[in-house]
Formats: sequence, C-alpha cells, structure tokens
Amino acid sequence: MIEAHKKVIVIGGGPAGMMAAGVAASRGLDVTLIEKNEQLGKKLFITGKGRCNITNIADIETHIQSVPVNGHFLYSAFYTFTNQDVISFFERFGVNTKQERGGRIFPISDKSSDVIRALEKYLSEHNVQIIQGMVHKINKQEDSVKGVVLKDGQTLPCDSVVIATGGLSYPQTGSTGDGYRFARNLGHTIAIIKPSLVPLEIKQKWVQSLQGLSLKNIAITVLNAKNKKVYDDFGEMIFTHYGISGPVVLSASSHMRNIDNEQYAVSIDLKPALTDKQLDIRIQRDFEKYIRKQFVNALNDLLPKKLIPVIIDLCDIPADKPVHQITKQERMQLIQLLKNLSMDVKGFRPIAEAIVTSGGISTNEIDPSTMASKIIKGLFFAGEIIDVDAYTGGYNLQIAFSTGYLAGMHV
Ligand SMILES: Cc1cc2nc3c(=O)[nH]c(=O)nc-3n(C[C@H](O)[C@H](O)[C@H](O)COP(=O)(O)OP(=O)(O)OC[C@H]3O[C@@H](n4cnc5c(N)ncnc54)[C@H](O)[C@@H]3O)c2cc1C
Repeated sequence: MIEAHKKVIVIGGGPAGMMAAGVAASRGLDVTLIEKNEQLGKKLFITGKGRCNITNIADIETHIQSVPVNGHFLYSAFYTFTNQDVISFFERFGVNTKQERGGRIFPISDKSSDVIRALEKYLSEHNVQIIQGMVHKINKQEDSVKGVVLKDGQTLPCDSVVIATGGLSYPQTGSTGDGYRFARNLGHTIAIIKPSLVPLEIKQKWVQSLQGLSLKNIAITVLNAKNKKVYDDFGEMIFTHYGISGPVVLSASSHMRNIDNEQYAVSIDLKPALTDKQLDIRIQRDFEKYIRKQFVNALNDLLPKKLIPVIIDLCDIPADKPVHQITKQERMQLIQLLKNLSMDVKGFRPIAEAIVTSGGISTNEIDPSTMASKIIKGLFFAGEIIDVDAYTGGYNLQIAFSTGYLAGMHV
C-alpha cells in the first residue's frame, strides 16, 4: 500500500535526484527535492559538450561491462529502468532522440537544456516541492533517518532521504562531495575517491610545445610497465600545457585503474588509416615532391605545422639533411615514430577536472535492488555518489537514471 503521507527528501537536483524525486512523487508520496544551486541540473547542462549524451543503445550486458568496478551491482538497476526506458521517458516529454557514433543517444535538438526541461516537467507534473538550499546534515534517530538540516539551520523532518549529491568532479557545478560526509556520519564506508575520465599529465617536456594542437583521426594505445596493452581506441585528442586531453584520452584514463602503483605509457598512431608500407609510399611521394629541399621542409603535407619540429627532434634525421640523401633506414625510423609517438604518463589531472568520480559509497552497504542503505533505515543513494563509474558513451547518465529510478520506487 502506498503511504501518501510518507515524506521523502531527495538531496541533489542532478539527473539521479530529479529522477528519484519524480518517481517517488508519481507513486503518490510527499516529495521535496533540495538543490543548492539556483537551477536544477547544472552539471547535466554541460554534459556531452552541451548536447547531453543521455544513454547508449548497447545491450544491458554492455552497460554492465562499461562499469569497470562494481558493474554487477547495477544489474537490477539497469534491468529495471533500461536504456530504452530512458529514451521513452524523454520522448514522452517531447525530447526525441537520435543515435550517433558508438551507439550514443542524444536529443535530436542537441540541447541538454531540453533534457533538463523534461525532468523539470516530470517534477512539476507530480507536484515535487523544490527547495533551493544547501543540506548540512542528515538527522537520525536510533537507526532510522529523521530529517535533514539545512545550512541556514532549518530542520525538515522526513521518513526517507535519497542522497543524490554526485561526486567530486567539476565542483563548480555543485558536486562538492557533501554526500560523502553525510553518509560517513551515518556509518557508511566511502571507497577511495579518485578521478576517472580525466586528462593526463605527461612526463616528456616536448608536449608543452604542442599545446592547443588538436588531432582528429588518431589511434591511441595504453601500455602498462610490462608493455602489455591495456586499452586502444581511435578518435580525437588535444595537447595541453600539462599533457594530453580530449575524448580518446579521457576514455583511456578510465582504463588506468592502478595509476598510483603502475607506470603507464601512451602511444599515438598519427596515421592509423595507413599501414607502414602505405605510409612509406606516401612519404616517398612527398620526398619526391620536395626532393630539392631539406628534411625540415619536406613534412608540410604530412603533418600539422606545430608537430613538425617535435617529430624532427625525436627522430635521428638531421633537420637540414637534403631530402634526396635520406636513407631507407632513416625513412623507416620516421615511420616508426609516426605510427608510435610514445609518451610516459606522469599522472592524472586533479579530480576537479575529471568527468566522473570513481569511488564513493561502498556498494556492499547498499541493497542493489532498491538502492536502500543496509545500515540506516529510510536512507537511499542514487547516481555518481555510489562507488560505480562508467566509460564514456552515455553510460554514466544511465547509471544516474537507473539508480534514481530504483531509489524513487523504494523510498
Ligand atoms: C563536462 C562533463 C560532461 C559529461 N558528459 C556526459 C555525457 O554526455 N553522458 C554521460 O552519461 N555522462 C556525462 N557526464 C557525467 C554525468 O554528468 C554525471 O555522471 C552525472 O551528472 C551524475 O549525476 P548525479 O545526479 O549523480 O550527480 P550531479 O549531476 O553531480 O548532481 C548532484 C547535485 O547535487 C547538488 N548538491 C550537492 N551537494 C548538495 C547539498 N549539500 N545540498 C543540496 N544540493 C547539493 C549539486 O549542486 C548537484 O546539482 C559528464 C560530466 C561532465 C563533468
């Protein structure tokens, strides 16, 4: 039986909190959503470069495999509120979707604001009360939640609380890790917080001279200290003053699970569409064209301008060597370099620059079929605050929606 008088407070107006609040209210419960920002979904607004990759078309098993740690914990959540459910949910609110590379689903409008508006409509349709305020603490009595205390001292009594305060990345959006403190004070364990989907700092100084250079069609390979391949991918990257970033680099970072104890190297294939032999033919053609020039002036057709001095520094061919004197062996060395531009990873950028937070509320202490705390009655979790994080591709928002849905169904 639905207890209509039951009072639920959801802390955090991100995708997980909005979904949880709407679902709980749709069951007839009295729901208040507390968000410290003036607007809901501040992080959601910047997702997918403002286009919001809401989910992925991949089957559920792939969703689970895209969560490198504790993926199995999400089994129930992913099967109860699936990627198809997410798509239908948004279509119901007028947000039609489209599929892009890698099965990524976006709103046809390419506007994250449409996704936020749909969630807001859902909340208002079910009369969720929205309070702009910052939760300071959750009160309990014996082993049950009793209410929340706002920063201004106001106490709001309730029967259930959903903590959906997100992780610690992009703190300017409001995700400042407050929920970890609330949960720790109530006896929960927090698995070590680390950045994931994060830019990489590189040891080699030459990367700094490439700052701002964006490379569109490259292949990346990540190797561990034993030279074993950990990950490979194809796509876009950018050089920065500290190292490298961009989509393939962020994805690569989430496969460097042991960054504190392991030495990782990244190898970039600048010409992945060409085999060594094809690249050799291409270079010979260029060398033919620039036969009267020096080596330094023979690479303009092959490489972006900024990259040429770096490649010349890294290979053994003197910059001023006349092109017609370059030997086959030297050409082979150049090919090796272009197919395998190697960099040593110094470490991750700080968590504030990470797309997601890895670590969080221990999944051992949460019931996977309800998102309820196993420690405190009436306490629930949803979204990135839980110790689950996924690769890029819409999987992280699916986690937020699926866990939010489960929490909303069981508060
Ligand atoms: C730049 C960027 C791009 C991304 N793009 C994508 C993408 O395209 N697809 C994808 O799947 N994932 C993407 N992600 C990841 C995704 O945005 C997050 O995983 C997701 O937003 C997590 O949702 P959440 O509701 O758990 O937390 P959040 O979205 O972080 O929301 C938590 C909310 O809680 C509020 N809050 C915190 N503490 C308190 C408090 N004490 N009192 C009241 N309110 C509080 C915060 O203000 C915030 O609004 C991206 C992330 C970033 C940073």
